[in-house]
Amino acid sequence: MRLPHLVQQMTKDYRAGFVSFVGRPNVGKSTLTNALVGEKVAITSSKPQTTRRAIRGIVHRDSGQLIVVDTPGLHRPRTLLGQRLNDLVESTLSDVDVIGFCLPANEKIGPGDMFINEQLGQFRRAKLIAIVTKSELVDKKLLAEKLLEVQKIRDWHAIIPVSALGNQQLEQLSELLISEMPFSEQLYPDEITTEETLEMRICELVREAALEGVRDELPHSLAVTLDEMGPREGKNLFDIHVNVWVERDSQKAIIIGHRGSRLSDVGRRARLEIEKLVKQPVFLSIRVKVAPDWQRDPKQLGRLGF
Ligand code: GDP
Ligand code: MG
Repeated sequence: MRLPHLVQQMTKDYRAGFVSFVGRPNVGKSTLTNALVGEKVAITSSKPQTTRRAIRGIVHRDSGQLIVVDTPGLHRPRTLLGQRLNDLVESTLSDVDVIGFCLPANEKIGPGDMFINEQLGQFRRAKLIAIVTKSELVDKKLLAEKLLEVQKIRDWHAIIPVSALGNQQLEQLSELLISEMPFSEQLYPDEITTEETLEMRICELVREAALEGVRDELPHSLAVTLDEMGPREGKNLFDIHVNVWVERDSQKAIIIGHRGSRLSDVGRRARLEIEKLVKQPVFLSIRVKVAPDWQRDPKQLGRLGF
């Protein structure tokens, strides 16, 4: 049970602050965020670079509160979109209390990890914690070896193995992170799990569904915007009209699929997730549109919300 707000302030052992998970694409940062928050606030995918925004997931515990800032990841920018995403990551990481560097238990530490590790040196404010993710994928012996290997990279404030999907060590991680936060009042009310608007969350769920099963070069070219949404008059139905933007006609064809089969599949999967969010039956209409080279065009980037 959570103590009432005033009592918490008087007991003075309540902590709250900001944490960001960094690491190569696909190491499980978004999945970990969702597991800690206990709700889907960040979309996940087996496609790299799924995350484009600094999403704030809020983890509530009796001992304190964690504001999780999910980042798109540090990488070498190749387009204007890539550059804007990098700027976003750097300003975010300069501000957090703890940075959790995620390294998957089942993969070797490689140049991509070391590139990020070097970047971490510039964020002086944050305590650096190493999180070995997907721990359920390896046996105890391999996990112990991995922990030793990670220990050698730098002088970590702490190292902890977790599994978001296997539900291992998640409470230990949240307690560890909270213990590193400053004493604070509660920063968000109990019922708030994210700062993302409903519109943003819906667009992200559509993007997640659209990303599933597409080939590697397409993910970067996908963006989703919302035209309108609202309850249908006199019916228990929530109407949503979105646009899926791609850069080329050939990509439009891929998204739509043979006689629209792929698009209807995307629509069904997105609708099921959105229904969990709005807790109501949903009518979802998706239009696929082409905006040539939007990733390099400042005007288009603005229109698509970057
Ligand atoms: P991100 O790019 O770092 O945000 O990674 P995601 O959270 O999107 O996850 C990438 C992939 O790894 C997805 O297919 C997840 O289902 C998978 N994944 C994440 N956490 C775990 C875990 O604890 N165990 C296993 N086996 N897979 C995981
Ligand atoms: Mg992610």
